Amino acid sequence: TKRNPGEPTFHQAVMEVLESLEPVIEKHPEYADILHRIVEPERQIIFRVPWVDDNGRLQVNRGFRVQFNSAIGPYKGGLRFHPSVNVGIIKFLGFEQIFKNSLTGLPIGGGKGGSDFDPKGKSDAEVMRFCQSFMTELFRHIGADVDVPAGDIGVGGREIGYLYGQYKRLTGVYHGVLTGKGLSYGGSLTRTEATGYGLVYFLEEMLKENGQDLANKTVVVSGSGNVAIYAAEKARQLGARVVAMSDSNGYIFDADGINLATIKQLKEIERQRIKAYVERHPSAEYHEGPKGIWSIKCDIALPCATQNEIDEESASQLVANGVKFVAEGANMPSTPEAIKVFQDNRIPFGPAKASNAGGVATSALEMSQNSMRCSWTFEEVDAKLKGIMINIYRETSRVAREYGCEDNLVAGANIAGFLKVADAMMAQGIV
Ligand code: NDP
Repeated sequence: TKRNPGEPTFHQAVMEVLESLEPVIEKHPEYADILHRIVEPERQIIFRVPWVDDNGRLQVNRGFRVQFNSAIGPYKGGLRFHPSVNVGIIKFLGFEQIFKNSLTGLPIGGGKGGSDFDPKGKSDAEVMRFCQSFMTELFRHIGADVDVPAGDIGVGGREIGYLYGQYKRLTGVYHGVLTGKGLSYGGSLTRTEATGYGLVYFLEEMLKENGQDLANKTVVVSGSGNVAIYAAEKARQLGARVVAMSDSNGYIFDADGINLATIKQLKEIERQRIKAYVERHPSAEYHEGPKGIWSIKCDIALPCATQNEIDEESASQLVANGVKFVAEGANMPSTPEAIKVFQDNRIPFGPAKASNAGGVATSALEMSQNSMRCSWTFEEVDAKLKGIMINIYRETSRVAREYGCEDNLVAGANIAGFLKVADAMMAQGIV
């Protein structure tokens, strides 16, 4: 904490991993030295992003790219545009990304970036000018074999398009330097759905292990962005009923099951608040404040909005209401105290590093298609995604057993992700 003051989410992410690694260091003390290096990013870039708004006024935001670890492949991880972004948040996300990317089994290192720019309420032209200015600095630090950013909160298809256009203009090359691209210019089928679908494929394995499936289960999904929408869609396809979703202002409850066509229209096309749902479905309820969503009775909770959205109180409420499974779609949405509540009550818990790895895995598949100059079908990519999620579940639970942490998928994911990166770092010497 002395070395990285004012970065509580980064400390939280590091502490969780270091605690899980205790049995590894006991068994293999040779890994101890790796820990000093793995918590230090290889490179951090912070830059000024000036742009002019629609009223002709100068605006200045801050841009970030943290290139955390390239032991097993080029840096890979999303860009987040949200007013809460600071270097500590980008470092927490970049650090988690190292282990998640390792778990996918694909050759990708860990990185993350973004800006404190808020796309909400901005015109398309303002978002474009911001993205062009952001890329005017970022382009010199990235490349198809160097660092390949993707989307995250506030960065979807529109933003990736503007960023890609500017990269191409500055460099003159047509490289797969970003993922999450549109289908007409190198994007991969299934990438939009990948994180949410992947989360539910992982959840299916958790259910199977307990002799259950998704049919007729009641599910609560927080958020209403990219991850939330497609987690809800896949859960419904597999027979579950999704009764609640949220945004940062509040949540909706629809006992008949949320109408996802309305959510997609509101969020992907009209860029509206979730409150507008009840105007179109008057039998549904809207409540102010996103936290209340965890007071709804459900079998399965899928937090898909943001970090630390489930605290100890919310976790206790979920348990008291009989929740049977929890799997994380967002990055670090449960506080350490909340995870303890789930574990103490023996609720199977899927940690983000494992359960939301489907997005980055499919981004890596997009990189492969770009390199091969080909496009796979939706079914091909979806089948690969499913296979990857099943493997991540199996590997995570196998490693948890091997290190004496049976049923603890948090420990299993941290250890399995770490071992591959640590071996690569040792083989490459002190660099
Ligand atoms: P989006 O921007 O598409 O959606 C984010 C959603 O979360 C929105 O509904 C947003 O509501 C809500 N939200 C944001 N901040 C808060 C807050 N403080 N309290 C409550 N709700 C909030 O982002 P994504 O769906 O892409 O990302 C969601 C999470 O999943 C993040 O943690 C991200 O890091 C993680 N993730 C995303 C991946 C991807 O492929 N997209 C891959 C792996 C992880 P509002 O509109 O009001 O801001």
